[in-house]
Amino acid sequence: SDTLSEDVLPEDVRLEASLRPRSFDEYVGQGPVVEKLKVYVQAARSRGEALDHCLFSGPPGLGKTSLAHIIANELGVGIHVTSGPALERKGDLAGLLTNLDARDVLFIDEIHRLNAAVEEYLYPAMEDFRLDITIDTGPAARAMKIDLPPFTLIGATTRTGLLTSPLRDRFQIQERLEYYDAKALESILHRSARILGIPLDKDAAREVASRSRGTPRITNRLLRRLRDFAEVEGNGRITLELAQKSLDRLGVDASGLDSMDRKILLTILDKFGGGPVGVETIAASVGEQRDTIEDVYEPFLMQEGFLQRTPRGRMATHRTYQYFKKQPPPTPQGSLF
Ligand code: ADP
Repeated sequence: SDTLSEDVLPEDVRLEASLRPRSFDEYVGQGPVVEKLKVYVQAARSRGEALDHCLFSGPPGLGKTSLAHIIANELGVGIHVTSGPALERKGDLAGLLTNLDARDVLFIDEIHRLNAAVEEYLYPAMEDFRLDITIDTGPAARAMKIDLPPFTLIGATTRTGLLTSPLRDRFQIQERLEYYDAKALESILHRSARILGIPLDKDAAREVASRSRGTPRITNRLLRRLRDFAEVEGNGRITLELAQKSLDRLGVDASGLDSMDRKILLTILDKFGGGPVGVETIAASVGEQRDTIEDVYEPFLMQEGFLQRTPRGRMATHRTYQYFKKQPPPTPQGSLF
């Protein structure tokens, strides 16, 4: 099964909500980002002003939504949650904006997917806390301005490059979330296990953490699956042995790669001689969306040294060949290896 692309079960959604950190103190990792945000939040609070607009970027499951909720909590204000695709018409956005209380947070997930008309409508709201509306149509049409309470827009996106520059420029605070190291994921696991009442051995947690693709959401999903194995096939406790066996069965290998990761790499190796090959071609070959390949899979594979991006396309690395126990082509690309 593909850990990343499998259907999300309703239980997973509930689970995620119950495990969501509620304060900066509960939010593990992302040190430099959190330290700065704490300062901005405290400053806005003591001035009694709305926090500046924030844009968070990074692969799915790294904690962008959690951070938005935490910021609202720490500011002591309300949060209104929506997403780019959900805001189809200007009226959808106007409805949300005119319902905000002063200093509230409006969280827009996948903000790069706003349509152009809605996006333009958002500019004066972000800049001057104002909505420009047109009443009536034809010769009777009149332009009107509605004042909005000062508010904080928090946008989340996988890559800031997906936003138009006028939208991006209107966020005074922009932070990129990074993949988590194994230590941070380990502490997230212990916290989640405690909340859910799952007995989890230390060495088992280390194993799961190292196979979680640097992503808290995956860590928590794996924990849930391991609990099933532990309850049905073990004595309820997640031990190292049970973790290793179950993770293998879930298709998550010792390097933390899942089946789609391996499929992408094997495609580059076997069908395209190790590359370079364009992302569009890879996407068609493995039957996955180009965006998903670029935003979800590639960043991790590049960070781990399995994939290289070159002007001519994606290339396998020495590590990729080693990993699959294959020989690199007889005429290696010199400096690359
Ligand atoms: P994103 O919005 O980036 O897709 P979420 O904020 O929805 O990610 O995070 C997914 C889940 O991962 C959360 O419900 C939470 O359980 C867990 N999580 C994410 N970041 C952290 C963190 N820094 N500390 C603890 N748990 C986290």
